[in-house]
Amino acid sequence: MLVPLILGSDKTMLSTMSGDKSAWPIYLTVGNLAKEKRRSTKCNGLILIGILPKCPNSPDQHAIKRALHCALREILRSLESYERLGIPIRCADGHTRLGFPRLASWLADYPEQCALTLVIYRWCPRCECDPKEFPAIGQPGSRKRQLKRYSSLSAEEAKKVGQWKIPGLENFASFHLDCNIFECMNTDRLHQLLKGVFKDHTWTWVMALLTKIYGSRASEVVDDGFANIPPFVGLRNFGHRFTKVTQWTGSEYKDMLAVWIPLLAPLLKGFPHRLKGLRHLTDFILLAGYHSHTDTTLRYLKSALVGYGKSLDGFLEFRENNSFAGIPKLHAMIHYVECIKEFGSTDNTDTEVSESAHSWLIKDAYRATNKVDYIPQMLKWEKRQFIIKDRLNILQSIADDISDHRALQCQLMIDPKAPVAKPGPPKLSGLGTKCIPIQSFKFPNKASLN
Ligand SMILES: [Zn+2]
Repeated sequence: MLVPLILGSDKTMLSTMSGDKSAWPIYLTVGNLAKEKRRSTKCNGLILIGILPKCPNSPDQHAIKRALHCALREILRSLESYERLGIPIRCADGHTRLGFPRLASWLADYPEQCALTLVIYRWCPRCECDPKEFPAIGQPGSRKRQLKRYSSLSAEEAKKVGQWKIPGLENFASFHLDCNIFECMNTDRLHQLLKGVFKDHTWTWVMALLTKIYGSRASEVVDDGFANIPPFVGLRNFGHRFTKVTQWTGSEYKDMLAVWIPLLAPLLKGFPHRLKGLRHLTDFILLAGYHSHTDTTLRYLKSALVGYGKSLDGFLEFRENNSFAGIPKLHAMIHYVECIKEFGSTDNTDTEVSESAHSWLIKDAYRATNKVDYIPQMLKWEKRQFIIKDRLNILQSIADDISDHRALQCQLMIDPKAPVAKPGPPKLSGLGTKCIPIQSFKFPNKASLN
């Protein structure tokens, strides 16, 4: 049985109001689990396997890369033998199978993708397309990156295709069987599309166009437009302070995406070509967020991308160097169809998974520490939580099985508010005798539960 491993890493701040304490956790889940279970806070579908050390502010970037890859090698070293020999895994159907784990995907934002693949900043982590040719929409695909090929290239030759070759440094992925780390760098709808292409780039060009049309009144016109959104279920009214919003999260981007086309349609009446391009971008982001795909939806996704690519010329005047060169997030859109075909819908590989895990895996753990030597304490806390959740899941599975004589016993252990017998004289009806007081229960040991 193949066990595709999905890893995720994302730096996060630990203290919200003050301090500079941060952590760089690594999460692990497996592709064999249903995605609802992977995201659930109650299951152990997503676990913390390590916290990377904080990178020193060293001018020697190669030393930082060396430290990162050595740390990753150590954290994942135990997998290396299991990848070859397999590991017995007890499955949900009661059978034990030999599982062969493989590194399949890594959830990370663009700077981390570059660090993990040793790709030079601004190059694509998946293909060798030159950043000067970005976004390369509608062009024949460039050569795919392969770790084996770079081992035979010199440092200069590798640099020409955007790959670092650092003496004494071998990518941690080269020690893992069948792992092409470049293919593990997947779609990330939150950072690439919503934050990158939509808000950071396209919206900036739209604002530049509105400034060209309305002059200094552009911000006011936009604020009025967002404030006049009629109340409707699912639509958010940003009020008159839309352009003053400083904290942007995934939900703000999605709320803005839901209303920006009807809002901009009257404002950009004289620019139908550009408006059409914005509509194509909306289609692309919404289609990319589908939880399942068919050949038809992938065809729509392709045509939305081509439509958006054709409209980009209209925004060229707002780019400093009159080209879209060096925007890797814009180029990443061309890899969406192939990634969905290989790894499924984008919610499998979105960094939203690791972002949400920060709150219930990392920040809760940090609150339980003395805030001084917090990393070992966080790991210990997390290990205990894992065991408790594991135990509770076993109890829940027994409690759900009404034919099992231990069901009520286990239900009361999970939920102390479950109905129990009231103290007092026994009732003649005999109903009370069916409820056993919780004090008389014994915690079942692992052998009896199995
Ligand atoms: Zn590429």
